[in-house]
Amino acid sequence: MKICVDPGHGGSDPGAQGPTKLDESKVNLDVSKFVCEHLKESGYDVKLTRSTEIYIALSDRCEIANEWGADWFVSIHCNSDGPSAVGIETLYKSNAGKDLAVVVQSALIAATGDVDRSVKYRDNLYVLNGTSMPAILVEIGFISHPETEKKLRTKDYNVIIAKAIVDGINEHLLV
Ligand SMILES: [Zn+2]
Repeated sequence: MKICVDPGHGGSDPGAQGPTKLDESKVNLDVSKFVCEHLKESGYDVKLTRSTEIYIALSDRCEIANEWGADWFVSIHCNSDGPSAVGIETLYKSNAGKDLAVVVQSALIAATGDVDRSVKYRDNLYVLNGTSMPAILVEIGFISHPETEKKLRTKDYNVIIAKAIVDGINEHLLV
Protein backbone atom coordinates (compact mmCIF):
# COMPACT_ATOMS: atom_id res chain seq x y z
CA MET A 1 0.00 0.00 0.00
CA LYS A 2 1.51 3.28 -1.14
CA ILE A 3 0.64 6.53 0.61
CA CYS A 4 1.82 9.92 -0.62
CA VAL A 5 2.00 12.54 2.13
CA ASP A 6 1.94 16.17 1.01
CA PRO A 7 3.17 18.90 3.37
CA GLY A 8 1.34 21.98 2.09
CA HIS A 9 3.24 25.08 0.90
CA GLY A 10 7.02 25.49 1.41
CA GLY A 11 9.94 27.67 0.39
CA SER A 12 8.81 30.92 -1.21
CA ASP A 13 5.22 30.01 -0.27
CA PRO A 14 5.10 29.87 3.55
CA GLY A 15 1.30 29.53 3.62
CA ALA A 16 -0.55 31.15 6.51
CA GLN A 17 1.28 32.72 9.43
CA GLY A 18 0.32 32.67 13.10
CA PRO A 19 0.05 35.75 15.33
CA THR A 20 3.60 35.16 16.58
CA LYS A 21 4.93 34.42 13.07
CA LEU A 22 4.86 30.65 13.01
CA ASP A 23 4.81 29.60 9.34
CA GLU A 24 2.23 27.07 8.21
CA SER A 25 4.75 25.46 5.83
CA LYS A 26 7.00 24.54 8.77
CA VAL A 27 4.17 23.00 10.81
CA ASN A 28 2.91 21.09 7.78
CA LEU A 29 6.39 19.68 7.15
CA ASP A 30 7.00 18.71 10.80
CA VAL A 31 3.67 16.93 11.08
CA SER A 32 4.07 15.26 7.67
CA LYS A 33 7.48 13.88 8.62
CA PHE A 34 6.01 12.34 11.79
CA VAL A 35 3.11 10.95 9.76
CA CYS A 36 5.64 9.47 7.35
CA GLU A 37 7.63 7.83 10.19
CA HIS A 38 4.57 6.28 11.79
CA LEU A 39 3.14 5.10 8.48
CA LYS A 40 6.44 3.35 7.71
CA GLU A 41 6.31 1.67 11.13
CA SER A 42 2.84 0.43 10.19
CA GLY A 43 4.27 -1.12 7.03
CA TYR A 44 3.18 1.28 4.27
CA ASP A 45 5.32 2.55 1.41
CA VAL A 46 5.43 6.30 1.93
CA LYS A 47 6.53 9.20 -0.22
CA LEU A 48 6.65 12.87 0.78
CA THR A 49 6.07 15.48 -1.92
CA ARG A 50 8.72 17.55 -0.15
CA SER A 51 11.03 16.88 2.80
CA THR A 52 12.65 20.31 3.07
CA GLU A 53 11.55 23.96 2.89
CA ILE A 54 11.33 24.20 -0.88
CA TYR A 55 8.61 25.45 -3.18
CA ILE A 56 6.75 22.79 -5.14
CA ALA A 57 3.95 23.68 -7.54
CA LEU A 58 0.58 22.10 -6.91
CA SER A 59 0.74 20.41 -10.32
CA ASP A 60 4.09 18.85 -9.40
CA ARG A 61 2.69 17.53 -6.12
CA CYS A 62 -0.06 15.75 -8.04
CA GLU A 63 2.41 14.46 -10.60
CA ILE A 64 4.66 13.03 -7.89
CA ALA A 65 1.74 11.04 -6.48
CA ASN A 66 0.34 10.02 -9.86
CA GLU A 67 3.66 8.92 -11.35
CA TRP A 68 4.59 6.98 -8.23
CA GLY A 69 1.23 5.23 -8.39
CA ALA A 70 0.14 6.14 -4.86
CA ASP A 71 -2.95 4.37 -3.53
CA TRP A 72 -3.81 7.27 -1.24
CA PHE A 73 -2.88 10.94 -1.03
CA VAL A 74 -2.87 12.83 2.26
CA SER A 75 -2.22 16.57 2.22
CA ILE A 76 -1.44 18.37 5.49
CA HIS A 77 -2.36 22.02 6.02
CA CYS A 78 -3.20 24.53 8.76
CA ASN A 79 -6.26 26.73 8.59
CA SER A 80 -6.28 30.49 9.03
CA ASP A 81 -9.00 33.02 9.74
CA GLY A 82 -9.83 35.57 12.44
CA PRO A 83 -8.32 35.04 15.90
CA SER A 84 -11.40 33.26 17.28
CA ALA A 85 -11.75 30.65 14.53
CA VAL A 86 -10.79 27.25 15.92
CA GLY A 87 -10.97 23.54 15.15
CA ILE A 88 -9.97 20.75 12.81
CA GLU A 89 -11.57 19.75 9.52
CA THR A 90 -10.81 17.20 6.82
CA LEU A 91 -11.61 17.89 3.18
CA TYR A 92 -12.33 15.36 0.44
CA LYS A 93 -13.78 15.16 -3.04
CA SER A 94 -14.21 11.47 -3.93
CA ASN A 95 -16.41 9.00 -2.06
CA ALA A 96 -13.36 6.90 -1.20
CA GLY A 97 -11.69 10.05 0.08
CA LYS A 98 -14.71 10.76 2.24
CA ASP A 99 -14.53 7.32 3.88
CA LEU A 100 -10.92 7.95 4.88
CA ALA A 101 -11.64 11.56 5.87
CA VAL A 102 -14.32 10.47 8.35
CA VAL A 103 -12.04 8.14 10.32
CA VAL A 104 -9.04 10.50 10.23
CA GLN A 105 -11.21 13.39 11.40
CA SER A 106 -12.65 11.45 14.34
CA ALA A 107 -9.19 10.17 15.36
CA LEU A 108 -7.91 13.75 15.35
CA ILE A 109 -10.77 15.05 17.47
CA ALA A 110 -10.41 12.18 19.95
CA ALA A 111 -6.65 12.75 20.26
CA THR A 112 -6.63 16.55 20.51
CA GLY A 113 -9.99 17.58 21.99
CA ASP A 114 -10.04 20.37 19.43
CA VAL A 115 -13.34 21.61 17.99
CA ASP A 116 -14.83 19.25 15.40
CA ARG A 117 -15.54 21.18 12.19
CA SER A 118 -16.30 17.85 10.54
CA VAL A 119 -15.47 16.57 7.06
CA LYS A 120 -16.25 18.75 4.07
CA TYR A 121 -16.75 18.12 0.37
CA ARG A 122 -14.59 20.45 -1.72
CA ASP A 123 -14.46 20.40 -5.51
CA ASN A 124 -12.17 23.42 -5.90
CA LEU A 125 -8.92 22.19 -4.35
CA TYR A 126 -6.08 21.57 -6.77
CA VAL A 127 -4.58 18.53 -5.07
CA LEU A 128 -7.96 16.85 -4.63
CA ASN A 129 -8.76 17.43 -8.31
CA GLY A 130 -5.31 16.66 -9.76
CA THR A 131 -4.56 13.39 -8.00
CA SER A 132 -5.80 10.18 -9.60
CA MET A 133 -6.16 8.26 -6.32
CA PRO A 134 -8.46 8.91 -3.32
CA ALA A 135 -7.21 12.00 -1.53
CA ILE A 136 -7.87 13.97 1.64
CA LEU A 137 -6.66 17.34 2.84
CA VAL A 138 -6.40 17.64 6.60
CA GLU A 139 -6.63 21.11 8.15
CA ILE A 140 -4.94 20.23 11.45
CA GLY A 141 -5.86 23.44 13.27
CA PHE A 142 -6.07 27.21 12.99
CA ILE A 143 -2.57 28.65 13.05
CA SER A 144 -4.28 32.06 13.36
CA HIS A 145 -5.73 31.03 16.74
CA PRO A 146 -3.21 32.09 19.42
CA GLU A 147 -3.64 29.01 21.65
CA THR A 148 -3.53 26.63 18.70
CA GLU A 149 -0.45 28.33 17.28
CA LYS A 150 1.27 27.86 20.63
CA LYS A 151 0.49 24.13 20.53
CA LEU A 152 1.55 23.78 16.89
CA ARG A 153 4.99 25.11 17.86
CA THR A 154 5.63 22.06 20.02
CA LYS A 155 6.93 18.71 18.86
CA ASP A 156 4.70 16.92 21.40
CA TYR A 157 1.51 18.31 19.90
CA ASN A 158 2.62 17.72 16.33
CA VAL A 159 3.38 14.09 17.19
CA ILE A 160 -0.11 13.74 18.72
CA ILE A 161 -1.60 15.09 15.49
CA ALA A 162 0.53 12.80 13.33
CA LYS A 163 -0.25 9.69 15.36
CA ALA A 164 -3.97 10.45 15.18
CA ILE A 165 -3.80 10.77 11.38
CA VAL A 166 -1.98 7.43 11.20
CA ASP A 167 -4.46 5.82 13.63
CA GLY A 168 -7.27 6.91 11.35
CA ILE A 169 -5.49 5.60 8.25
CA ASN A 170 -4.83 2.28 9.98
CA GLU A 171 -8.41 1.98 11.13
CA HIS A 172 -9.57 2.44 7.57
CA LEU A 173 -6.90 0.54 5.62
CA LEU A 174 -5.65 -2.22 7.92
CA VAL A 175 -8.91 -4.15 8.04
ZN1 LIG B 1 -2.41 25.68 3.57
